[in-house]
Amino acid sequence: MKPAPFDYIAPTTIDEVAAALGAAEGDGKIIAGGQSLMPMINFRLVKPTIVIDINRVAGLDRIELHGDRVRIGATVRHHMTATDAIIRQHLPIVHEAMHHVAHMTVRNRGTFCGSVAHADPATEMPMMTRFLDGTVIAYSQRGVREIPAAEFFVGSLVNSLEQDEFVIGVDLDAMKPDAGWGFEEFAKRHGDFALACFATTLRCVDGIASDVRVGMMGVGETPLRLEEIEDIIEGTDVSEPVLDTVADRLAQILMPNTDIHASADYRRHLSGVLAKRALRAAWSRANHERL
Ligand code: FAD
Repeated sequence: MKPAPFDYIAPTTIDEVAAALGAAEGDGKIIAGGQSLMPMINFRLVKPTIVIDINRVAGLDRIELHGDRVRIGATVRHHMTATDAIIRQHLPIVHEAMHHVAHMTVRNRGTFCGSVAHADPATEMPMMTRFLDGTVIAYSQRGVREIPAAEFFVGSLVNSLEQDEFVIGVDLDAMKPDAGWGFEEFAKRHGDFALACFATTLRCVDGIASDVRVGMMGVGETPLRLEEIEDIIEGTDVSEPVLDTVADRLAQILMPNTDIHASADYRRHLSGVLAKRALRAAWSRANHERL
């Protein structure tokens, strides 16, 4: 398919981007890596009158540590996130997750923030943003608006940006140095979108689990943070009976879709299997065991 005609501009400042987006009155689209937008334009699933390229805006291509938060700028590519020293040290679970994202060519162009804006519920970066108490930094002619991840992801491919706002960065909670983590994803082929994925971080304090976080993707309309599952694990020794309880509860509360890739029942079963593997790995890491 060929795209419908559109104008293209590549501003060099965030204010120029904001002005162009505001002037487009809902008919403009930001392009970052183009890995999701261009297929949608070519299939005419979206028909913007103007495409606004943010790749020439200076200063958005950085990963920075500010206190206990890591900021990932809007033009940071997946490859950079996967290889960055700050991510490796402060967000090893994100480092691991990035290796499940697509293939080298997509990772060379696609951006962390573009994926977050795209809000596909079966993708790693929205999940990391939701699960690590992320904040989406939106910008418009009205200024900066910080949107907690819990409010940003509204539905499948739907976010809570206003039509004149775009993302300039995403802030994530850095992990505590003694936190263990587990990330388990299942896709039919490496790099495909996940059928289900379970991620967790936790600490071991005097032999019991503390500061437990649990996130999932591929099993709902948005990336999920599962506080109920966190409460089951918090304060326990993460023993096998605890893991059985987690798997049983996941089977009760998750409402995944059936599609051509897998049934809802299969995804529910898979979720329990992945949860157990991820929690065992996180607990081992929290106890400084070699995996
Ligand atoms: P673009 O394609 O440029 O934009 C996507 C959407 O977000 C558009 O609507 C655009 O307007 C909007 N947008 C982009 N940036 C901003 C911004 N700063 N502010 C506001 N709106 C913005 N992803 C995964 O996570 N896991 C995978 O396994 C995976 N597999 C893939 C396999 C293939 C073959 C392909 C083609 C893609 C795959 N992807 C996967 C998606 C890939 O990660 C995309 O790069 C990502 O979803 C979108 O990032 P982008 O920078 O390319 O965004």
